[in-house]
Amino acid sequence: MPAGSHRFQVGTLSCTVLSDGYVAHPTSWCFPNADRIELAKALATRGLAHERVISPYTCLLVETGREVVLADTGLGSGSNTAGAILARLEMAGIRPQDVGTVVFTHAHPDHIGGAVSFRNPRAPRPTFPNARYVMAESEWDFWTSAHPDLRGLRVGEDVKSGIESTARKCLPALRHQVELIARETEIVPGIRAIAAPGHTPGHLALLLSSEGRQLLNLGDAAVHPLHLEHPEWQNGFDLEPGRALAARRGLLERAAAEEMHVMAFHFPFPSVGRVAARSAGGWEWTPGW
Ligand SMILES: [Zn+2]
Repeated sequence: MPAGSHRFQVGTLSCTVLSDGYVAHPTSWCFPNADRIELAKALATRGLAHERVISPYTCLLVETGREVVLADTGLGSGSNTAGAILARLEMAGIRPQDVGTVVFTHAHPDHIGGAVSFRNPRAPRPTFPNARYVMAESEWDFWTSAHPDLRGLRVGEDVKSGIESTARKCLPALRHQVELIARETEIVPGIRAIAAPGHTPGHLALLLSSEGRQLLNLGDAAVHPLHLEHPEWQNGFDLEPGRALAARRGLLERAAAEEMHVMAFHFPFPSVGRVAARSAGGWEWTPGW
C-alpha cells in the first residue's frame, strides 16, 4: 500500500486507514485548561513543538465483502495540507461511486468537508454519488438549526464561523441521501454506532466487530494521545467539555477492559493502537496494529 495508507483485518472486515493530511493548531486550542508547566513538560518529553500542535486527519475505509464503507471524509478542497481522501481512495482501488455508506462521527469540517464537491459552486454535489450518508439525528438537527450555539468552543472566532459555515454549505447538499439515526444502531453488519456526545451534540463512536476481533473508532472523543494520559485536560473543540470527558472515559474504559484496538481520527498516523490503564490514572497509548 502507498504511504498514507495502512491496511489490517478486523475479522472478516478489511480495514484501511487513509491519511487526508493534517492541520496545525495553536496549542491552547487543543489543551485550553492544561497546566502550562505540566503541558510544556509533556510536549518536551515527546519532542513536540510548544506553540503548535500538528493534528493529522485519518479516515477509515471498511470493505465488508458486500459493501464499501467510509467513516469520515476529511477536509475536502481549499487546504494546502489536507483534502487527500479521494486520491487515497483511488490508490486503494476505490472509486467514488463504489462507496455505499459514509458514516460521519460528527459534522465538523475535517469530517464532512470531503463529502461534498464544490466543482460547480452554485450546485454542490455529494462526492460519493451512490452513498447513503449516516449521522446522528441530533447532530443534523444542531447544525441545520437557525443558530447553532458554539459559545462552548475555546478556539478562535474565525474557526467557529468556519465550522458553522462548512456545515451550512455541506449538509444541505446531502439531504436527499442522508440517513439519520436516533439511537445506537448497527449501520452495516459488524459496524455499530455508539453515542458519544460532548465533542458535538450527536458525536458518534463506531465499534467494528467480527470473529471476536474489535476496533473502537473514537472519532474525536480524544484528539491527542496526551488526552488519554491526562483525561482531565480538555479539548477546545469540545462543545460541552463535561459530557465529552464522560464519553471519553466511558469509551476508553471499555476499550481497555475488552482489549480492543482503538482508532482516533487525529492521532499520529496510522491512528490505530491499543490503550491500557495507567497506575497514575488515565490511559497509555501504544500505537500500531
Ligand atoms: Zn476532528
